[in-house]
Amino acid sequence: MKNILILPGDGIGPEIMAEAVKVLNVANDKFDLGVELSHDDLGGAAYDRYGVPLADETLERARVADAILLGAVGGPKWDTIDPALRPERGLLKIRSQLGLFGNLRPALLYPQLAAASTLKPEVVSGLDILIVRELTGGIYFGQPRERKVLDNGERMAYDTLPYSESEVRRIAKVAFDMAMVRNKKLCSVDKANVLASSQLWREVVEEVARDYPEVELSHMYVDNAAMQLVRAPKQFDVIVTDNMFGDILSDQASMLTGSIGMLPSASLDAGNKGMYEPCHGSAPDIAGQGVANPLATILSVSMMLRYSFNEVAAADAIEQAVSLVLDQGLRTGDIMAEGCQKVGTVQ
Ligand code: ATP
Ligand code: MG
Repeated sequence: MKNILILPGDGIGPEIMAEAVKVLNVANDKFDLGVELSHDDLGGAAYDRYGVPLADETLERARVADAILLGAVGGPKWDTIDPALRPERGLLKIRSQLGLFGNLRPALLYPQLAAASTLKPEVVSGLDILIVRELTGGIYFGQPRERKVLDNGERMAYDTLPYSESEVRRIAKVAFDMAMVRNKKLCSVDKANVLASSQLWREVVEEVARDYPEVELSHMYVDNAAMQLVRAPKQFDVIVTDNMFGDILSDQASMLTGSIGMLPSASLDAGNKGMYEPCHGSAPDIAGQGVANPLATILSVSMMLRYSFNEVAAADAIEQAVSLVLDQGLRTGDIMAEGCQKVGTVQ
């Protein structure tokens, strides 16, 4: 039995999750996956129900589940509550409590959507990049962090960007393993010319590389990587980088593929337990209208079947189904093009 915890979240989360669960149920029947689903709340929905964005009982359910499928969290409704109880805190907490340090964010351009990319077709056609982002360390979690008022009355604030050798080693291994099953090419992105944490990052990545002699490793400073991603993105295959740089570069990469509504992600622990979610947020501006693109969440189901359960045939079938729907010219608003038919989740 595969126990999957469904956390629809807020905004468009419940709508896109309903579509993804339909696909998961069909795959379950067709491929005899033995999937069992349970449901709970995270983020604003959890705050409304439990008074906290991640309840202890939800965290416990997540711990015992084999995999977690998440919609998206947050929205203006919770903008004015205690910052410590904001929906996003629930997301950060579940990631760190479950040790989901390995964030995989593929940026793949479906040929049917080439016209939706922000770049020229010849620059992006065939684009297939995987960004491996460290998710539980670095500046988003580093202590100390503080805001204070100096003796002269001026306000100041600082954050801390810590990385230990073992944190870098384990994410580097995930990235090299991914490079091995793809095109044996890895680019590590850092800011080693300025940051001590990046100097350690580069050193440890070099050490891990000795165990992967077949992988061609390169290093790039993050500012250059940001530029290269829009200049010539196809030079990359697998990119590995820290939490903050990965956050920024993967949002940037998403626009190369047409719409953030197409991009799935996986967050993995040291075993093969994972949490799967679309890269986009809860899109409050379009929530409840039945116009959200559910494909990022459906593709997250495919990643779940592939990475947590090794159900390769079912994962491939879902990806092919997505491609088929695009071939048929069916489009949500975010990827709409001339000659296509507009669809939504509420007909
Ligand atoms: P977060 O902070 O949670 O990442 P965000 O502020 O970055 O959220 P998103 O919620 O990702 O923003 O939305 C950014 C824009 O993309 C919005 O205009 C939203 O409507 C659109 N968008 C996001 N997801 C989808 C989707 N699945 N289908 C269609 N449009 C989407
Ligand atoms: Mg965002």
